[in-house]
Amino acid sequence: MSRPQQITVLGATGSIGLSTLDVIARHPQRYQVFALSGFSRMAELLALCVRHAPRFAVVPEAAAAGSLQDDLRAAGLQTRVLVGEEGLCQVAADPEVDAVMAAIVGAAGLRPTLAAVEAGKKILLANKEALVMSGALFMQAVRKSGSVLLPIDSEHNAIFQCMPADFSRGLSNVGVRRILLTASGGPFRQTPLNELQDVSPEQACAHPNWSMGRKISVDSASMMNKGLELIEACWLFDAKPSQVEVVIHPQSVIHSLVDYVDGSVLAQLGNPDMRTPIANALAWPERIDSGVAPLDLFAIARLDFQAPDEQRFPCLRLARQAAEAGNSAPAMLNAANEVAVSAFLERRIRYPEIASIIAEVLSLEPVVAVDELDAVFAADAKARALAEQWLSRNGR
Ligand code: NAD
Ligand code: MG
Repeated sequence: MSRPQQITVLGATGSIGLSTLDVIARHPQRYQVFALSGFSRMAELLALCVRHAPRFAVVPEAAAAGSLQDDLRAAGLQTRVLVGEEGLCQVAADPEVDAVMAAIVGAAGLRPTLAAVEAGKKILLANKEALVMSGALFMQAVRKSGSVLLPIDSEHNAIFQCMPADFSRGLSNVGVRRILLTASGGPFRQTPLNELQDVSPEQACAHPNWSMGRKISVDSASMMNKGLELIEACWLFDAKPSQVEVVIHPQSVIHSLVDYVDGSVLAQLGNPDMRTPIANALAWPERIDSGVAPLDLFAIARLDFQAPDEQRFPCLRLARQAAEAGNSAPAMLNAANEVAVSAFLERRIRYPEIASIIAEVLSLEPVVAVDELDAVFAADAKARALAEQWLSRNGR
């Protein structure tokens, strides 16, 4: 049998990182962990290194690196500790690596993910913010290096599974009419609008169907997550925003659908467990066991659908506008959202103010072309500064 594939897991201590390691551990003959990264939770990162014995571990700064290196030596491991973005880019692009799980949250994942793309790796893309920020440049880099880009987001993985193999010829050329992007509607789907003013970070993070990191949980509550996913779908499948329709489906059993011109609608179903899309992308085009229980349709009994309400979910409207504006707009939307969501998680703003901050940032700053990475980071920095201005002007 051939050697196991070498996998780098960026964001190993997070929700997606841990699910990835769970799937990898089920298939030791197929996969070996090459590198793991963590930004906090150093004790967890150490335990993961002991479990998976990677060649490298990456941490944010030198002090953490020193003490992790000591602990690893004491545990009898050869793992070498690297530091910061440079370390992340190194383990993403190392010639020995076959595939990179991009599971850092937010804009912080962009450079390491792009380093993996430029090195022509197989990319398992969970870090949707990276693609949203830099879409055109990211996809150009994928085409240039010949890197295989596989979506981990459950919706995009579902769409990928329902698309014909030659979808890159263009949706209309392969008979696709629309992409139907499903959304659970999150914890506030039915909360009376006047109560949204007082919801807490804990309530926002209590997702009805999925267990995820805190930032994406808040994004799911506001439906900014679906907005980011709309932009993500446009880049991954070369779709126009008008070809992507959001459908609220509270059970999260159908992970998304593709509507063809002959009236066929293909869907991918499964239990809401990220190990399914992770296993799908890891083994693609083969299939492997993910540890996910078989779907019990009798227990589910019914599937419901409704149209999203943009008054309840203004972030979805803002994201669609940014998708249509293109250029720097998605990077600005993403950056303003990252600042607003952190402020909400730190209890400095109320939940409805997330949308107010993003709307203000987008209205203040004109959309400009972003034809190089520096322009993407400039738009990101500008939006962060404007969002911070909103916070200080409002005394937060
Ligand atoms: P998480 O918060 O659980 O984990 C984030 C990981 O990134 C952690 O390992 C953390 O240490 C690391 N990290 C955080 N800030 C960093 C920084 N500045 N520099 C380097 N590393 C940093 O998040 P998650 O839920 O696992 O989500 C990860 C990504 O996957 C996000 O982009 C999210 O949108 C996407 N995603 C997650 C899910 C899910 O079910 N959790 C589903 C679809 C997509
Ligand atoms: Mg998703």
